[in-house]
Amino acid sequence: MELIEQFIVNEGKVINEQVLKVDSFLNHAIHPKLMKEIGNEFAERFKNDHSTKILTLESSGIAPALMTALALNCELVFARKRKSITMTEDLFTTTVHSYTKNTDNEISVSRNLLKPSDRVLIIDDFLANGQAALGLIDLVHQAGASVTGLGIVIEKSFQPGRQILLDKGYKIESLARISSLSNKKVTFANQLEE
Ligand code: 5GP
Repeated sequence: MELIEQFIVNEGKVINEQVLKVDSFLNHAIHPKLMKEIGNEFAERFKNDHSTKILTLESSGIAPALMTALALNCELVFARKRKSITMTEDLFTTTVHSYTKNTDNEISVSRNLLKPSDRVLIIDDFLANGQAALGLIDLVHQAGASVTGLGIVIEKSFQPGRQILLDKGYKIESLARISSLSNKKVTFANQLEE
């Protein structure tokens, strides 16, 4: 998706060879028109998969997931990283390892928000090592529901997440695929293919 690539080139900051900072439009500030376009693009790519629900992870997945839910006319649920004091009901819970921060985080969703009949499209801001995506897939499976696919705003294709998910048979649609962050520069996978 050309628009997201333009935002990455113009506003993204390469922190090091592994990490891209996109605080000005996705991770801290949010660009509403870009999110609307992202939602429409995901809706187009997943329109034939009959998803009943979108699942994402707070907080940066919520904006693109909400616009996708609006475009696909389906429900939206986000997994929480911390247990809220009002979350007294039964939870589906799993552990997500962050390689970037070298920490383990519990994520959870109330049991009454995911049903066995749900067909769940997972949306997230970044795909790196695939741990967040695998955690969300685990929550869907705990509910006895099925995963229709994964929509990723920014995929770092030089990290193993995409292959791990493909090997498990999931459909993945990434709007920007970064093949390298070397030399303080963003290179997209489609630039290499040209
Ligand atoms: P994974 O679980 O695939 O290794 O990493 C996915 C999660 O880590 C994303 O939800 C995102 O929050 C965070 N993340 C991974 N790599 C980056 C990065 O380069 N930049 C930013 N801003 N977040 C990242």
